[in-house]
Amino acid sequence: MARIVILLTILIPLLLLFACGKKEVGEDYYTEDEMPAQSSNEYSESEQSDTLNSEHKDRPASSPGSTIANYEYTWTGSDAIPDVVIIIDDFGYAAGSLLEDFASLPKEIVFAVLPDLPQTARSGQIASQNGHEVIIHVPMQALNSPTSPGARYIKTGMQAEEIRELLSDFHRQIPMAIAANNHMGSSATSNEELMNPVLDHLNSLGLFFIDSAVTANRLSYNLAKQKGFRSHRRDIFLDVPDNTDATIAQKIEGLGRYKGRREPIVVITHCHNRSKLEALQKFITQIQAMGVRIISLREAAQYAAL
Ligand SMILES: [Zn+2]
Repeated sequence: MARIVILLTILIPLLLLFACGKKEVGEDYYTEDEMPAQSSNEYSESEQSDTLNSEHKDRPASSPGSTIANYEYTWTGSDAIPDVVIIIDDFGYAAGSLLEDFASLPKEIVFAVLPDLPQTARSGQIASQNGHEVIIHVPMQALNSPTSPGARYIKTGMQAEEIRELLSDFHRQIPMAIAANNHMGSSATSNEELMNPVLDHLNSLGLFFIDSAVTANRLSYNLAKQKGFRSHRRDIFLDVPDNTDATIAQKIEGLGRYKGRREPIVVITHCHNRSKLEALQKFITQIQAMGVRIISLREAAQYAAL
């Protein structure tokens, strides 16, 4: 009995410590290093990570903007916060008023469009008509995913020529694209044999690569830099683990981590549904009110040579 009591006195404080620590640093930042392996990897709409975090899910959603606007952010002043690039991934399915409403967001916001889908052409058109930059959201092989990245995607075993043909075809479908980022791709983006021809051919098409950072592996970003190509890497997934006000507020809080960095903060979110649009609108409204600048990829070019 005495032994059990001693054990409990040791265990309980330890457990409390763990629980508190988790609350403070846990979900705030979902950089690729902190994302749980399974959830981090891939983003098809159906498996979007709403199930990931019951802690946030249980919190009531409040009226638009209120929680976020009233949240007490620990950083003060926006002077040292880098500019923010916002990319919306997975266009190609969204249609009708949802697509139109995304297109009416500030024009600095970048549209990442998947090839081979019913709304691929329309998404590129409406985005560029509304002044948005468009990038190709290139489907790439994942490590362990129950869902396929797409009808056609970059995968192990492909020859350089096949890769070039596929990318050229994607580019023909989305001709206004100025860059590309990966859709899924936890396997492909870590594979130098694949990424060599991918990066070289994108470059020959006049496109630079943005690593969506679905894994902690930095190979594709580093390889692009080694080749002397412009490249960026995703810093924050806005809609992970969910779209609640609490999560969005914590993502804004997380901008403070980048204070003093020169390169822009690259934020990625998704176009799967209206709640993601609303969460993004709240994020935009709040960071602009705090004096943080949202910039386009063209404006971000000034940082690319760093
Ligand atoms: Zn995607």
